Amino acid sequence: MSEAVYVLDSTAFYAGIPYQGRGRYYTTYFVLEEVKHQSIGSSLLHTRVQVTEPSVESLQRVKSMAAKTGDANALSKTDESLLALALDLSKDGNKVNLVSDDFAVRNVAEVLGIPLSGTSIKGEWKQITWKMFCKGCGKEYTNPKITTCVVCGTTLSKKAVRST
Ligand SMILES: [Zn+2]
Repeated sequence: MSEAVYVLDSTAFYAGIPYQGRGRYYTTYFVLEEVKHQSIGSSLLHTRVQVTEPSVESLQRVKSMAAKTGDANALSKTDESLLALALDLSKDGNKVNLVSDDFAVRNVAEVLGIPLSGTSIKGEWKQITWKMFCKGCGKEYTNPKITTCVVCGTTLSKKAVRST
């Protein structure tokens, strides 16, 4: 029986997740950078949490998927590394669970088929895609490269569209 493997983002550390439970915990160096100055027992971090660098292939896959869902701008390097690490670990046949409350991370994970846990989000998660739209005239844009409305020149805003 395969043990559950958890990939943790920094909010998962703040929520104390590595100190509970008995799963195998993984994170990336980007997350380590974010949490190492916090009062998180560093000895515990080293004994219970494995810090791993994701593969270049998985990183590329995450980036191209994020471009498709419109989450590319919302994903940080840390977010990308976590998603890629979750992909790597699931390729190795692990039962991976990505722990993150980040909206864009959860959205891309969903499309990549990575199971999710939240530290606070409850209820069923539905996929969200981002749409650019103009607050001035209401025109919607699907090309992520357009940042200013061609009709009235207003800077475009982003809105989340929930798929049904
Ligand atoms: Zn406009």
